[in-house]
Amino acid sequence: MKLKDIGTPVSTVAGVGPSLEKLLARLGIFTVSNLLSYWPKTWEDRTRKIPLSAWKSTSKVHTIAQVLRHDWFGFGRMRTLKIIIDDGTATAALVCFNRSFLEKSLPVGSVIAVTGRFSPRYGELQTSAFEATCLAKSASIDEFLDKPVPGSAVFPIYPLTAGLSQTQLRKIITKALKEYCKGIENELPENIIEKRGLMQKKEAVFCMHQPRDIDTAEKAKYSLIYEELYHFQETILKRSEEHRKTAEKAKKSVDGSKKTFEETLSPRQKQLLARLPFELTEDQKKVIYEMNIDIDLSNNQPDAQCGAVRESETGVLTETEAANPPVKPDEISVNKDGEQPGKNPDRTYPAQFHMARLLQGDVGSGKTLAAFFAALRTVDYGGQCVMMAPTEILARQHANNAAKLLEPLSIKVAFLTGNLKASGRSQLLSALKKGEIDIIIGTHAVFSQAVLYHDLRFVVIDEQHRFGVVQRSAILDKGRQSVVQKEKLTQGIMPRAPDFLLMSATPIPQTLAHTLFGDLDISIIKSMPAGRQPIKTYLTKEGNESRVYEAVRQELKNGHQAYFVYPLIENVDSPEDDTAEQGDTQNNMAAFNSDGGAKTAISTDGTRSTAAGGTGRSDASNAANGGQKSLKSAESMYSFLSQQVYPEFKCALIHSRTDEAEQIAALEAFRKGEIQILVATSVVEVGVDVPNATCMVIEHAERFGLAALHQLRGRVGRGSAASFCFLVYSEKLTELGKARLKVLHESTDGFYIGEEDLKLRGPGDVNGIQQSGYITLGLADPVRDKAILELARADILENLAR
Ligand code: ADP
Ligand code: MG
Repeated sequence: MKLKDIGTPVSTVAGVGPSLEKLLARLGIFTVSNLLSYWPKTWEDRTRKIPLSAWKSTSKVHTIAQVLRHDWFGFGRMRTLKIIIDDGTATAALVCFNRSFLEKSLPVGSVIAVTGRFSPRYGELQTSAFEATCLAKSASIDEFLDKPVPGSAVFPIYPLTAGLSQTQLRKIITKALKEYCKGIENELPENIIEKRGLMQKKEAVFCMHQPRDIDTAEKAKYSLIYEELYHFQETILKRSEEHRKTAEKAKKSVDGSKKTFEETLSPRQKQLLARLPFELTEDQKKVIYEMNIDIDLSNNQPDAQCGAVRESETGVLTETEAANPPVKPDEISVNKDGEQPGKNPDRTYPAQFHMARLLQGDVGSGKTLAAFFAALRTVDYGGQCVMMAPTEILARQHANNAAKLLEPLSIKVAFLTGNLKASGRSQLLSALKKGEIDIIIGTHAVFSQAVLYHDLRFVVIDEQHRFGVVQRSAILDKGRQSVVQKEKLTQGIMPRAPDFLLMSATPIPQTLAHTLFGDLDISIIKSMPAGRQPIKTYLTKEGNESRVYEAVRQELKNGHQAYFVYPLIENVDSPEDDTAEQGDTQNNMAAFNSDGGAKTAISTDGTRSTAAGGTGRSDASNAANGGQKSLKSAESMYSFLSQQVYPEFKCALIHSRTDEAEQIAALEAFRKGEIQILVATSVVEVGVDVPNATCMVIEHAERFGLAALHQLRGRVGRGSAASFCFLVYSEKLTELGKARLKVLHESTDGFYIGEEDLKLRGPGDVNGIQQSGYITLGLADPVRDKAILELARADILENLAR
């Protein structure tokens, strides 16, 4: 069986009761497949002895020590045991909060194995987070000097959720491995596995969770990354071939006569143009023109008869199949892979032309408006449109814009998120199904199972890099299952797939575009709307923040507003807690979760909608948590800034865990100018459009990816006033880190930044930095893993040629 097909509920694994089941659900783990592909974010090597004296240079000490004495401190119920140990390199104390029982199991004079994170406190080396076992009740440590520390192994470190421990998770994964691992099949062709020296799939899965040593773990990871990129490239190559064929056929009919831009517009497009208070940029016009051609082609193309589709190689559908569509409408929703197990909707329909376009344009270049134009043309053809945004904040903003711009043209606009209350929701859904709504805007909820369209013909996905590649086919199917399209089937006519437009403000370097988006046509907006001033960017070393704060104060005094952005939500003591702002930056569907930034989004119909397990961007948070307690968090800095630095101004705090209503209220107040300072995490990376804000302060800037920094900076400079971006970096910045920040200092051109980012990134150079953000996969990052990606691509082409 394939790993992804092990759909057995996780509750069947021994030891998983109802409460554990709930915790696992929060991590997006519902099935055994989910559990086994919940990859560790890293491994801890406990195969070597790490003595107490090395406490500073290691995250955990792992040693054998002698118990010298027992001390007690505190009184009554607070009385606490302290075990003093020595391993020959240093003396240290084990503080046993609520673990007085250790008095018996680790007696004075015994030799123990101990693992823990030590740091100096109250004048001694201490730990309160440790594991210890007694090796001999009464012995001399000398007898153990050249023996390995018992319990030596490589331990997987998983991203956790409150209430779940590493030990618990390891235990149940071990059980699941025992029962299911042997039966896992390879998903790569055997000849490829052999040629590239990859692990068998079952071996790779096993070694991710229980590697003998770090090298084995890395090899397992490499094998899985290769597999992921192989399938990714296979999809791209297949789709690009199909798209090329249908486009060639369709474009034969393009009207070649010369017309002005206005003349090519449809009635509602003309009306919108007339209402705009500004001129479209030349690039916006060009993009609208390109999309118009696509939209005309796909709406004017003749119906395909179900009996007449055999010419398509990839999409053969027999007549019986056509009468009984292989994918039942009600089964479809955007799930993990966007595909039903064992079925590939792309393959069950014949190839007909539809727009498949990527619109790239720097932050603030006016992509949304171009998309609205395309939507209007679709509405003029009688079709419905959907615009999906990765966060509720952004979706709401688009909806507000659409209401302002489009409703005066008597277009019906609706807004849908997973949080919509029952009554309003059912009303909205029924209107949508009847065709009373023209354009619906929302989060991924717009694709959930219960949402049925009357005739969905145009899909826009904003900030596409937060959206999985494979989920696309589920979206095409959403269109095919529209009421009108389904009816066609009964008359022997193929349902049509909608046009779709992906928008991205993360410019893809030319050198990568072909590999990553070979299946899409690409449109680019390069020019910015007139009247924008370039943003000034300053690099400031940690320690000089007060100068930044003063510079910002001047702007605030002049009536402007400022953002302060931090990599963490809150400071935590336990390094195993993940509180870095993952919900907003992580490379999976979690990015769509507006329900508080949990790692996994549960779509409204309850299907799991994350990509593989959330190991992707955890590097950043991992490093962020790597024992560095001095890291500033949004919460702590909110208190500091509002009370100490800017008591005369109003501040608000938002991050993905802030209550949704509060987020909206804070943003609204910020927009209205009632609040001058917005302290945030990367939640504000997309979609916040407040022209009066002129300052963007990003502390610990080296912890953000270049793309993210560029996006964040794009939150200012949206009005006509001069704007400033302050990047505060750590004293310990590496050469590479300096080079990266310098790129931002020198340029505000997203395309240039993208190319430089690529050049600066060697393979394997991602520790502490987020993934590239061009595209979302599970373990793989196509930029970091470019070399593997190219191998896989070559292998596919070679296998095809045989
Ligand atoms: P993007 O999504 O590409 O980052 P937006 O679509 O959010 O950019 O546009 C940024 C801002 O610029 C919006 O407030 C929008 O109304 C405005 N805008 C769009 N096109 C133009 C134009 N041609 N001239 C002036 N302002 C524009
Ligand atoms: Mg945008």
